[in-house]
Amino acid sequence: MHSRCLAAKLKLVVSLLFLCLATVYLPSASGQAANTKPKNIIIMFADGTTSSQYEFGRYSSALLRQQPFAVTDVVMAKGHYQLMKTESANYFVTDSAAAASAMSIGYKVNNGAISITPDGKTPPTIMEVAKDRGKRIGLLSTAPIYDASPAAFSVHAKSRRDNELIVNQYLDLAPDVLMGGGSNFFLPNSLPGGKRQDGKNVIEAFQAKGYQYINTPEQLKQIKSSKLLGLFADEDLDYEIDRNAQETPNLSQMLTAALQVLNQDSKSSKNKGFVLFAENENTDSAGHQNDVAALMRDLWAFDDAVKVALEFQKQNPDTLVIVTGDHETGGFSPTYGRKNLGLAGKENYLNVMIEQLKQIERYKISLKEFSDKFKAKAKQTTSTTELNAYLNAALQDNFPGLVLDDDLREKILSQGQLNPNSNYLPSNILGLAIARQTGFYWGTAGHTPTPITVAAIGPGSQVFKGFDDNTAFAIKLRRLIGQK
Ligand SMILES: [Zn+2]
Repeated sequence: MHSRCLAAKLKLVVSLLFLCLATVYLPSASGQAANTKPKNIIIMFADGTTSSQYEFGRYSSALLRQQPFAVTDVVMAKGHYQLMKTESANYFVTDSAAAASAMSIGYKVNNGAISITPDGKTPPTIMEVAKDRGKRIGLLSTAPIYDASPAAFSVHAKSRRDNELIVNQYLDLAPDVLMGGGSNFFLPNSLPGGKRQDGKNVIEAFQAKGYQYINTPEQLKQIKSSKLLGLFADEDLDYEIDRNAQETPNLSQMLTAALQVLNQDSKSSKNKGFVLFAENENTDSAGHQNDVAALMRDLWAFDDAVKVALEFQKQNPDTLVIVTGDHETGGFSPTYGRKNLGLAGKENYLNVMIEQLKQIERYKISLKEFSDKFKAKAKQTTSTTELNAYLNAALQDNFPGLVLDDDLREKILSQGQLNPNSNYLPSNILGLAIARQTGFYWGTAGHTPTPITVAAIGPGSQVFKGFDDNTAFAIKLRRLIGQK
């Protein structure tokens, strides 16, 4: 009775949301210009994310914050949609570098390589092609901006770890907008937070080229230049669940500023539009950590940015919006099962419902933040009793309602391993505790070869259909940019 009533209410809420959404977004979603080439292309890139994560974003957003999820409800439902294979040149399970390289240059590369083929060739990247065609270009990420995905979409390096080299190439390529984390490899190691061995200050080098440099969210509202460098952290920008809004912008804020810069003089006959790559890396990091609460908040943050892109498209209908990623992370598997190891039956049954979502919504910090603090405490004390008391207090404060079974508690306290592929500890152990109580299980702490969704809406979006290789993404995009 109760669940039927809840289902009817949910149906009504979802129908109303859908109606509102259709009213807001329908004009841009009509697909009238689907056969023409777009002037502008916005690539919204959720690292480590595919349909299972997006579907979680959709129902958690509808139920917990009463908001539609634009990725599924608009871009997938009203645009075009395809699945993409992701294996790299040397492995069935790809890393971000190889996946983004294939999507950028149209050739398979080995894991770890940035748009360099196994035989050493460097076919042009998407951003090099776009620049060559007279388009403005931009890169945004919540990761260090020299990280694998934005790097592979724009430059070339034998290894994704060649951070100085990647930043040097950014200076040469001169994207009109470059924003994210990673100031450490723009600054010499003689300065606080700097890690460059060559002593160069690349922030100053960008400024000498006419770039406005910013490093606070407030400054995003004071853009005065047509070239923008924004670095908001030494390394990664914080997860949405941990983010201090005074110190760190979210992807929507960066995207809004980037679109303002890239769309300057858009009415001029000389303006050939732009290609913008905007990445949420935290969706991948949350997958590695098996952190469902951090994933949920970052899926919402990503979707908020997709809504910014769709609103821009409404004002500028010659814009193609693509929502995609590189590979799936974590084998994300919400499921059902027994609550505990007792006999199966009605009383001992767990399935995901709004109660479980509400429990996850109460978590206050990421598992990474918890792990960093716990490991720091473990270094300070040799007393298991003291560490156990710390663990209890930390869980009570930050993960209200979470019960830690004895076997998992023992592993956390002894800093033991969980599985051979559990590289993120104790996060993965706490992730399993959360799974046992909520049904949000994970298959791994690494990547998986689950095909990736490419959803697109606007002019040119019809080329994204069926089942294709990630190298085909580059070929399709080049044609849309205007290169044969
Ligand atoms: Zn990853």
